[in-house]
Amino acid sequence: MTALLERLRQIVGPAHVLTDGDLIAYEQDWRRRVRGKSLAVVRPASTAEVAAVVRECAAAGTSLIPQGGNTGLSVGSTPDESGTQVVLSLTRMNAVRHIDRDNLSFTVEAGCILQSLQELAEKQGLLFPLSLAAEGSCTIGGNLGTNAGGTQVVRYGNTRELCLGLEVVTPQGEVWDGLKGLRKDNTGYDLRDLFIGSEGTLGIITAATMKLFPQPAAQLTAFAAVPSMEAAVRLLGLAHQHLGAGLTGFEVMGRFALGLVIKHMPQLRVPFAAQDDAPPYYVLLENSDSESEQHARERFEALLELAFEDGCVLDAVVAESLAQAHELWHVRESIPLAQAEEGLNIKHDISIAASRIPAFVEHTDAVLQREIPGVRLVNFGHLGDGNLHYNVQAPEGGDAKAFLNEQEHRVNHLVYEAVAEFGGSFSAEHGVGALKVDQLQKYQSPVALGMMRAIKQALDPQGIMNPGCILPRD
Ligand code: FAD
Ligand code: ZN
Repeated sequence: MTALLERLRQIVGPAHVLTDGDLIAYEQDWRRRVRGKSLAVVRPASTAEVAAVVRECAAAGTSLIPQGGNTGLSVGSTPDESGTQVVLSLTRMNAVRHIDRDNLSFTVEAGCILQSLQELAEKQGLLFPLSLAAEGSCTIGGNLGTNAGGTQVVRYGNTRELCLGLEVVTPQGEVWDGLKGLRKDNTGYDLRDLFIGSEGTLGIITAATMKLFPQPAAQLTAFAAVPSMEAAVRLLGLAHQHLGAGLTGFEVMGRFALGLVIKHMPQLRVPFAAQDDAPPYYVLLENSDSESEQHARERFEALLELAFEDGCVLDAVVAESLAQAHELWHVRESIPLAQAEEGLNIKHDISIAASRIPAFVEHTDAVLQREIPGVRLVNFGHLGDGNLHYNVQAPEGGDAKAFLNEQEHRVNHLVYEAVAEFGGSFSAEHGVGALKVDQLQKYQSPVALGMMRAIKQALDPQGIMNPGCILPRD
């Protein structure tokens, strides 16, 4: 092992092979569920260095864990406890290689922080629409590795839809250059799509060509109280019909989730009180318009009028300024922090066809209340994409840690069985990681699992790329 470390030092420089000191930022997952121990954290600065590191590790039979911002929520970017795995951190690879305005694309290295890419696009008068609460620290390589979703998917799609091409270092240390930036390219299997969402198990993404978009002329945000989940889905249908491509955000929040923000973040201005007899759900809608603010407001007001008539909206606030729009978004984005203040909880990131979500929620709420009386549901998420963060919190006054330890397995079983019954997915946007390996084995079809194993075996026969992530170790 010392010989391997010596060769890695020669490739990336001694300062970028970290073996001592505090490596917790690389060895512990973001939610602090797992703490591993690496052989070393290696920080290459170029594709050639990544390829050389991989070749040395492959020759030594040493596993590699690709890592970006380490903000993933499925324990996919941290080493195990063996002290034998190399964490390959891409954060030094943060160059912007090329901006192609006419092609509406840019080519960026894997370690670029998402927020810096949004800002760069904005400076060019363009939009890079990928947006999620971890954007200040997650990297585009990690976004691609997990096929991240976020809050703009309803209009712009997941990270996959935003990607035109990749550069990848294979588990053998070869470089595949797929950075042509083409919007059409039907030349055999789509290798790009194979690597997107593969969570570092098939190769290392070192650079990507991503789509850019024109900036909208105006953006308006509304916060609406709705009488039921069924009404929220009706509102989604109306919004699609009347705003078309202008609908860029559609988030739902349960009354209890909103109440937690009011309770734990009293400094925030929340437009509704969320008391016990308040409406059960709230929707945040965003309308982006390519013409003007005036046009955006007229269309939004027409939509809300229809929604009031329909009965799917009881009350609504439309932001008067960009600052107010940010405040409304901030309320939605504060739910994860507010629920953390309330105590540990059991998290789910599920998707179901929007049409079936009302029945799913009614069914699953009832099952959980029956099995664990008093249980509290922190239900919120990206309803426009059929994606709910359907989280389960201990009954009022209960010991949150004990609840998590004792009930997590059972609650997961109840929720995931219901998801399967309604034809949904147990992981909508956070991936499988090491956390949900058992669920994948249980809920994915044997045919699909067989193809996944065959792909893994074909590309990484040594099994050195992020072993135990997505698929179980042999
Ligand atoms: P990491 O956590 O470092 O890695 C994630 C996975 O990708 C690992 O399996 C890793 O091995 C692999 N990987 C990393 N870099 C590469 C690479 N260069 N090549 C190949 N594989 C690689 N996710 C959403 O989808 N939507 C959300 O709305 C959302 N909100 C979040 C909010 C908060 C507050 C937090 C903490 C997380 C949130 N996430 C969300 C999860 C997380 O931010 C995303 O999964 C993000 O895409 C991970 O990026 P990262 O750079 O931190 O990757
Ligand atoms: Zn989310």
